[in-house]
Amino acid sequence: MSLRHQYNSSKGLVKRRTNYGLRAKWLTLCIILFAIELVIVYFRIHDVILVISLHLNIKLDWIRGLETNCDAASDQNLFNYANPLLPTGEDTSPIPLCPDSPPYLLGKQDLGNENEDVDMNSLIKNYTHVQAGGRYQPKECTARHKVAIIVPHRNRERHLRQFLRAIHPMMERQQADYGVFVIHQTGTGTFNKAKLLNIGYTEALKEDNYDCFIFHDVDLLAEDDRNLYRCADVPRHLSVGIDKWDYQLPYDALFGGVIAMTKEQFNRVNGYSNEYWGWGAEDDDMYVRILHSCLGLERAQYDVAKYRMAYHPSDKSNRVNPYRYTLLVGAAERQRRDGLNNLHYSVVDNKRMPLYTNITADVGKPPLNPKTNSFGNGIDIVVSISLLVLMLTMTCCTCVKSRLPHVLLCPRRIP
Ligand code: UDP
Ligand code: MN
Repeated sequence: MSLRHQYNSSKGLVKRRTNYGLRAKWLTLCIILFAIELVIVYFRIHDVILVISLHLNIKLDWIRGLETNCDAASDQNLFNYANPLLPTGEDTSPIPLCPDSPPYLLGKQDLGNENEDVDMNSLIKNYTHVQAGGRYQPKECTARHKVAIIVPHRNRERHLRQFLRAIHPMMERQQADYGVFVIHQTGTGTFNKAKLLNIGYTEALKEDNYDCFIFHDVDLLAEDDRNLYRCADVPRHLSVGIDKWDYQLPYDALFGGVIAMTKEQFNRVNGYSNEYWGWGAEDDDMYVRILHSCLGLERAQYDVAKYRMAYHPSDKSNRVNPYRYTLLVGAAERQRRDGLNNLHYSVVDNKRMPLYTNITADVGKPPLNPKTNSFGNGIDIVVSISLLVLMLTMTCCTCVKSRLPHVLLCPRRIP
C-alpha cells in the first residue's frame, strides 16, 4: 500500500492510500483465467461450458448469438448440405391444400385418467379412421407435410396405449398426413434412445417420403391440440411446458421430449449421436449439433405447448450415463462421424400393427471401454475444470460488469 496525493475541491490537497496489492491479484486472476480459456478453446470444451451454463440458466451473449444468428461459413464442422427448405406444398392434386389453421381444433384436450390402463382392443375398435401401421391422411384436403412420429420404446406398454389414445384423434383434428412409428429396443441391454430415434428416421423413410419428423417421448401427452405437430424452417421444440416442472423450461437449452425437424434439418445435423448409452444428455448433444450447424431453433407457442408427463420410476436398463458430459465435450467434434452416417443396427421385427408401425431393433451394446473423445474417460477432470472455469468466468464477468475495470485501472481508495 502506498500514499498518493490527490486534489479534493473542498479539502484541498489530501493524501490517499492506494491498494496496488489488490490490483496485482486481479491481474493475476485474469491472466490465469485467460490461460484456462486458451486451454478450453484448444480442447473444444466450449460446448460443455455452453451446456453447463445453460443448465444453470446463465445465458451468455455468445450462446444467444449462436441460437439466432450464426456464421455458417466460418464453421468447419458444418455439413455441406443445401439450406433446409420446407416442402413447398404446391397444389398439384385435385383436392385442395389443407388450411393453415385446421378448423376442427378443440383447444384443451381431455387426456383421461392418468392411471387408467387403456384397453387396446377398444381403441382399435374406436379408431377406425386410422389405417394399418398407424397411418392417416385427411380426406377433405391435401396436407402440406408428411409427418412421421417416432417414439422410442421399451417396457412402457401402459404409457404407449395412453399415447396412442391421445395422438390419433389429435392428429386427425390437425388434418395431418402422418404415420406413428414405435421403435422398440430388443433385449435388456442398456437403452439407447438417440440411436432408436435415428433408426426410426431411417426406417420411416423406407416406408414413405416423410418430410417432417416428430421425435416423441412415449410418456408425454399434448394437453392442447393447437400445438400443431408440424415442422418449420428451423428445428422446433414442442414440449415447452411440462406439468412435472410447473410448465417451465428447467433450463433454456432443453431440446428434448417432443421436437420437430424436417428431413433436411435432421440430415444436416447428421441425426442424433449413437454414443449415448443410458439416460441423459443425448438431447443436449442435439442442441449442440443444431447450434454448430447454424440451423437456429424455435420453441412452440408457450400457452399451447403444454404436456402431461406420465409418472414412471427410473428404468433399470436406462441408468444415468456417467460419460454423458465427456461425450458432450466432443459433441461438435464427433458430429461429422457419429450419427446417421455410422448407424449400425439390425431390424428384428417390422410389423404394421393396427395403430402404429412396430420396429423392433437390435442396437448393439455399449463399448466396453468407451473412448469418448480426445480426453479419454477423464469425465471428472473435464467437468470439474469446466465448472471451475465457469464459476471463475462468471465471477470475472460480474466484476467486469460492476467495478473491476475501475479497480484495475484506478488505485483503490480507502477513506
Ligand atoms: N424409454 C422407454 N423405456 C425405457 C427408457 C426410456 O421406452 O426403459 C423411452 C420413453 O419413450 C421415454 C423416453 O425414452 O419417454 C425418455 O426416457 P425417460 O422417460 O426415462 O426420461 P425422462 O425424460 O423422464 O428424463
Ligand atoms: Mn419420462
